[in-house]
Amino acid sequence: MNITDIYKTMEYSPAPESPDLAFEWLKERKAKFGLFINGKWCKAKSGKVFVTYNPATGEKLASISAAGKSDVDLAVSSAKKAFPGWKSLSGHERARYLYALARQLQKHARLFAVLETLDNGKTIRETRDIDIPLVIRHFYHHAGWAQVMESEFPEHTAIGPVGQIIPWNFPLLMLSWKVAPALAAGNTVVLKPAEFTSLTALLFAEICEQIGLPPGVFNIVTGTGETGAMLVKHPDLKKIAFTGSTEVGRIIREATAKTDKKLTLELGGKSPFIVFEDADLDSAIEGVVDAIWFNQGQVCCAGSRLLVQESVAKKVIERLKKRMVKLRVGDPLDKSMDMGAIIAPVQKERISNLVKQGKKEGAEVWQWQGKLPHNTKIKSKSGGGCYFPPTFLTNVTPSSTVAQTEIFGPVLVSMTFRTPDEAVMLANNTSYGLAASVWSENINQALHVAPKLKCGVVWINCTNQFDASVGFGGYRESGYGREGGQEGMFAYLKIKETGISKKELRIAVPKIKPTTKESLSLDRTAKLYIGGKQTRPDSGYSLKVVNADGTLAGEIGHGNRKDIRNAVEAAHKASGWQNSTPHLRAQIIYFLAENLEARAEEFQKRIMNLTGVSKKHAGLEVETAVRRIFSYAALADKHEGLIHQPPMRGLALALNEPIGVLGLVCPDEVPLLSMLSMMLPAIAMGNSVVLVPSRPFALIATDFYQVLETSDVPPGVVNIVSGDSEELGSVLAKHDDVAGVWVSGTDEECSNAKYLSSGNMKIVWTNDGKKLDWFDNRQSEGRIWMRRASQVKNVWIPYGE
Ligand code: NDP
Repeated sequence: MNITDIYKTMEYSPAPESPDLAFEWLKERKAKFGLFINGKWCKAKSGKVFVTYNPATGEKLASISAAGKSDVDLAVSSAKKAFPGWKSLSGHERARYLYALARQLQKHARLFAVLETLDNGKTIRETRDIDIPLVIRHFYHHAGWAQVMESEFPEHTAIGPVGQIIPWNFPLLMLSWKVAPALAAGNTVVLKPAEFTSLTALLFAEICEQIGLPPGVFNIVTGTGETGAMLVKHPDLKKIAFTGSTEVGRIIREATAKTDKKLTLELGGKSPFIVFEDADLDSAIEGVVDAIWFNQGQVCCAGSRLLVQESVAKKVIERLKKRMVKLRVGDPLDKSMDMGAIIAPVQKERISNLVKQGKKEGAEVWQWQGKLPHNTKIKSKSGGGCYFPPTFLTNVTPSSTVAQTEIFGPVLVSMTFRTPDEAVMLANNTSYGLAASVWSENINQALHVAPKLKCGVVWINCTNQFDASVGFGGYRESGYGREGGQEGMFAYLKIKETGISKKELRIAVPKIKPTTKESLSLDRTAKLYIGGKQTRPDSGYSLKVVNADGTLAGEIGHGNRKDIRNAVEAAHKASGWQNSTPHLRAQIIYFLAENLEARAEEFQKRIMNLTGVSKKHAGLEVETAVRRIFSYAALADKHEGLIHQPPMRGLALALNEPIGVLGLVCPDEVPLLSMLSMMLPAIAMGNSVVLVPSRPFALIATDFYQVLETSDVPPGVVNIVSGDSEELGSVLAKHDDVAGVWVSGTDEECSNAKYLSSGNMKIVWTNDGKKLDWFDNRQSEGRIWMRRASQVKNVWIPYGE
């Protein structure tokens, strides 16, 4: 072949990376691996092993111990024992360990890259140039967080031993996203890698040994999903961090509902890739290649739904098909491959079945026609070899299976839109909310669309960008919690005990005495407050409220499921509140303070009568409430985001966004102050709320709606539904149009809320049955609550020509 021929065909010669180094490493260990517990290697007491294969060839790579219950117990007790020592090291000392890990990872980068490619089937181009450099960056960045922890997070401390469960698609990268912040913050770790891809985690454990990481600080229990479930249920773990499918995320949410374990979930996605007619189409086509064929499409944030403006759709589809022909699929160790192997035959079947389903539902299927490597060692119904061709589905309807289900493979579906509003509607038309990519040369348009997309990451004119300084995580059924950046550190920290919190505020809940005269007519029943209007409850029933001395104080509406439904609808209609300027919200909240103060005496009396506290105590509660309103008026325009400068020519804007409609179930203690302490951060951040006030003291809430009415709070921003807290809390926790619930109640109410929230994976905060000191500003006011009331969206904006 001469040079002219080469130019014509643009054929590549093979450029294989040698796997020798990794095979040598495996051979030295006789291709057998135990568990890494308390700084030592040990065989699983369960006696069970499983085999890990090379997805590209079907060859066995190693056999690995499968941890059983006693192994998990041992690993957790080692992490528990190591926790006090690790936590009490100075930030600087922990920083040195993390720095040493980064240096060792750098030193062994090639071995890690080759081993990852062998075990996972992803191309060496990606492991070498993306996965491993990002892993290293993560440890450097978090060595930094450890160093400055005392000054940057003075109110916070480590949580304890944590359990971490990771998937197979980015094995070492997911390890680093979890382990680096956990260790930096002072937690100890028990990690379960995915069954398909444990090898680089085991190599990482060796590095921990080499740098002399104290025993028990980092432990590995390899195994199947069963081992993962054991971690989830273990009573001594204080947090579970999980990345994987929404289905398993839901199981974990339910399994941890009865505990006070912290939980972060990074789940699936069906991310849109939006191309406007004014986009640089050639760049956008390359973007699509990166969005869906990176890592064989086995990426939680893969841009798997191509949404193209109708005017350029034909052009984009044609060019994309042309570009697809040039993709190279094959041996992952070949440095010039675009796509490698699918993780396992079972995943290949799943992809293949979903494509068949798409075809059945009317999609036109276009597939790469090159020759896929064939390997008879791999038994797969859809053909030998664990490869699947790049696939493109057009003529797809928004509700079809392939447009809604996460395929987790190299399969792109496309749809068209006419206007930016339609693009946003289509983009948000899934239950997920992980990421989105927006392509337009008009930055105004892109920045206008970005906040409207319901997802945790937006890439403008780029895709699949990640960095340790920029938080990553989802909205809605893509989970909650962030990994990376400052918000990723908060996920591994808790607020320091103040000491004051133990001072339980005792309140006697008055009981209705049989002698109480039923002298009140229905007209004196305080109604519900929905959509800015006083509304009679659907049931028509009311509940009696008595004073501390047992006399009848009044009646409140007995709200039910239907009233909650109406309140949620009203809260959604008030979505303008979240788009209002923080300045406007601040002004309205200041006005609330003014109007409450004007009625201070009336509220003081009501508190005294209902709760039986002294005049002084009631006065202090009202005074603190007024001050708290001032604080949130102040914070409304100050809880701003950050600008990150990841290693690229560009910026990432970390925007604090409201969560949406929040359901709040308020406690009995200090009823006015506690209710406002929950309501105010929520509305200051731009959320609208459906609030269930304390059952015995609900008249305080119904008095308060008169303050709301006189303070210009737009209708629907605050809705009050009185009634049985447990019953109404459950309805809110189950409601699919409620994005988050906060419950301050009994143990049972809290675990109920967590359990029932799993339907649409709501963000849940509860007091875990413990009473808060609502007078204490450190735990009951300020940025911790503003953070609770918001979720971070990172918008990546590259610059330069
Ligand atoms: P899973 O969610 O099943 O697995 C993720 C991790 O959780 C693995 O370590 C797994 O162990 C473990 N696990 C499985 N069941 C449980 C359980 N009941 N309790 C605790 N841990 C458990 O994902 P899969 O690997 O099975 O992939 C299935 C689908 O999930 C994919 O097709 C894809 O759609 C999605 N997925 C999404 C990811 C994301 O990042 N969003 C990542 C991976 C998958 P083991 O490996 O042994 O099963």
